Amino acid sequence: MTGMQKTVLVTGGARGIGRATCLAAARAGYRVAFNYLADDAAAAGLVAEIESGGGTAMALRADVALEADVDRLFAAIDARFGRLDALVNNAGITGPAGRFMDTDRATIDSVLRVNVTGMMDCCRAAAARMATGRGGVGGAIVNVSSGAATTGAPFTYVWYGAAKAAVEAFTRGLAAEVAAEGIRVNCISPGVTATDIHRSSGRNQGLEELARTIPVGRAATPEEIAGPILYLMSDTASYIVGSVLRVGGGR
Ligand code: NAP
Repeated sequence: MTGMQKTVLVTGGARGIGRATCLAAARAGYRVAFNYLADDAAAAGLVAEIESGGGTAMALRADVALEADVDRLFAAIDARFGRLDALVNNAGITGPAGRFMDTDRATIDSVLRVNVTGMMDCCRAAAARMATGRGGVGGAIVNVSSGAATTGAPFTYVWYGAAKAAVEAFTRGLAAEVAAEGIRVNCISPGVTATDIHRSSGRNQGLEELARTIPVGRAATPEEIAGPILYLMSDTASYIVGSVLRVGGGR
């Protein structure tokens, strides 16, 4: 049966939403490959957790901003699993929160390379393997956007909002291009989710303060985002193509 088991790649899978997605995918019967930037301990812990639950996991330290790392990541999946059924482009960074006028070129560049260029490189590599016209069996791609794509995230990280808007536009275009190849491409747009990303960005609003602006009155757990990602990956979503699914607690 091993040959029939589906394989998913979750980028940025070691912590936060990516980690919850890896665990949910393993529970749903996927073999899980994920990459991460630097946190070897978090990655090893997640592999151990999935394997102790009877699942299969592979972690690779690979920066999605680097083309050579993305090539190495997909080659490792080919070698270990020999197939790829789903891709979740979850790796994302905001850069330090602040006003645009005070934000330098290097920050903007790195945010675009991780959230946009890296996401596109992963989509290209995955689509080439999944496309029925190229010998593949089809697949599903879920790109992770943000409400910032719509609001623009003023006074916080407008460059990140612009990057996520690019993710949504790219999703719509690619979805139409590869739909006839058996590949469904969609976006998930998480609301405020309780992960380390808020501390990493150094934004001065805490999660509690943000929660007051959310109709349900709290941030999402990473699991509450992972569930809808798994749904978009699943055959239940077979007619959902090029959509952006907002998971925002009413905001
Ligand atoms: P997080 O807790 O900061 O975790 C990010 C994960 O991505 C980490 O495992 C990190 O690796 C990895 N990563 C970062 N840069 C990478 C790179 N260049 N190459 C490979 N892996 C990289 O983030 P999160 O909050 O779960 O966010 C996940 C996604 O959801 C992002 O796209 C984010 O923009 C989006 N999102 C989040 C929220 C929210 O409120 N949390 C809301 C809307 C959208 P290490 O573990 O090695 O550091």
